[in-house]
Amino acid sequence: MSAHQKNINIAEVVQHDIDHHFHPFTDHKAFHAAGGPRVITHADGVYIWDGKGNKILDGFSGLWCVNVGYGRKELAEVAYRQMLDLPYYNTFFKTTTVPTTELAAKISSVLPKRFQHIFFTNSGSESNDTIVRFVRHYWKLKGKPYRQHFIGRVRGYHGSTMVAANLGGMAGMHEQVGTEFPGFHHVQQPYWYDFGGDKTPEEFGLEAAAAVEKKILEVGPENVAAFIGEPIQGAAGVLIPPTTYWPEVQRICRKYGVLIISDEVICGFGRTGKWWGFQSLGFEPDIVTMAKGLSSGYQPIGAVAFADTLIKDFFALGGEFYHGMTYAGHPVAAAVALKNIEIIEDEKLVQRVAELAPYFAKALASLNDHPIVGETRSLGLLGAIELSNDKAKRGRFKESGRVGTICRDHCFKNNLIMRACWDTMVLAPPFIITKKEIDDMVNLARLALDATYADVKAEM
Ligand SMILES: *Cc1c(COP(=O)(O)O)cnc(C)c1O
Repeated sequence: MSAHQKNINIAEVVQHDIDHHFHPFTDHKAFHAAGGPRVITHADGVYIWDGKGNKILDGFSGLWCVNVGYGRKELAEVAYRQMLDLPYYNTFFKTTTVPTTELAAKISSVLPKRFQHIFFTNSGSESNDTIVRFVRHYWKLKGKPYRQHFIGRVRGYHGSTMVAANLGGMAGMHEQVGTEFPGFHHVQQPYWYDFGGDKTPEEFGLEAAAAVEKKILEVGPENVAAFIGEPIQGAAGVLIPPTTYWPEVQRICRKYGVLIISDEVICGFGRTGKWWGFQSLGFEPDIVTMAKGLSSGYQPIGAVAFADTLIKDFFALGGEFYHGMTYAGHPVAAAVALKNIEIIEDEKLVQRVAELAPYFAKALASLNDHPIVGETRSLGLLGAIELSNDKAKRGRFKESGRVGTICRDHCFKNNLIMRACWDTMVLAPPFIITKKEIDDMVNLARLALDATYADVKAEM
């Protein structure tokens, strides 16, 4: 523990948190019944420490974001220097700042050539809000004002603002957000484990893609503005689509003139072993949204990249785009994101993910013999473990999410962070993880699975 952390009164922090902090994505009754939060005090590499002094292996990179690992002094230093030079200036009214501009150029340089223009936001949600604003306005400018509908997937996650929640396909969020926003549709997710039945993954991939065409025809091809998807659905449980899926979705979207948006908030910046998820999954989007990995979570920042074909028309047709956030392209966040991308380049971390991928896949697969593991899968450093009460039939425990939560709690007790998405356990460790740490992570996961099995054996 470093010097400035020694004098924290953890009991007081917990009490203040209970008394004053209204947490996001939390069942508050259960949270308070459980005695409040676990306080995370500091971190280094792939480890975080809690207020009780436990050293915990973070298999989830914070929230799919701390890709370069914790404790990067270079990132703290650029933030400090930038705050002294220029802590803030806006990017409205024909002004810019140095790091904002440099970051736009840097992001373009790691994307395919057709993406030359970058719009800045503060989060993934705002990036996805931005694309709805942009695309709807774009089609109006193009004389097709009826192209206003968006198609996404069931359990897709695109963020938690009103529009992002509608773009996404999380039923629980829709219930609370309200479904009065018109123009958002959701189709079957390409989730072979739960829905593939007797089909091969390849057959099932084509079937899931056909659902996109069916929806386009139902809404009316002339009315559909865009299709949005995460290359791999993260919050749904790391759903790695069959190889047939994305190329077929692309063929369908092109056939009807529907724009393709790749939500790269998780997959972007190397998570799948290539710079972008669309490169790993085999499609070419028109718009790319990003956040998390852009700054490795060291600063809140998001961005949207637009293909030149769209930008050319958009700029030429003119008129003000009535959209932008005070902190868009914030100089401190931009300086940190820029340095983060430089670290990824200098340390060849994308290549590192690709090289570690087979080792990670094999380590995960060593859990396949476990009585409650139905399947393991991974791409790059994004992995999933399916919890099952009947391995042969890909069966599920009663009350979806219950056993996943039990397992997640056992992970915590064993000093491992592994997230539960319903009954799918998911891993997304920092790119700097070593082979030894991958082994440790999977060994801790096995302990948690053993403890979970002991709890639910009677149900099998
Ligand atoms: C986290 C996430 C978002 C939302 O990003 P925020 O920064 O939380 O607003 C959007 N899309 C995907 C795929 C995400 O994982």
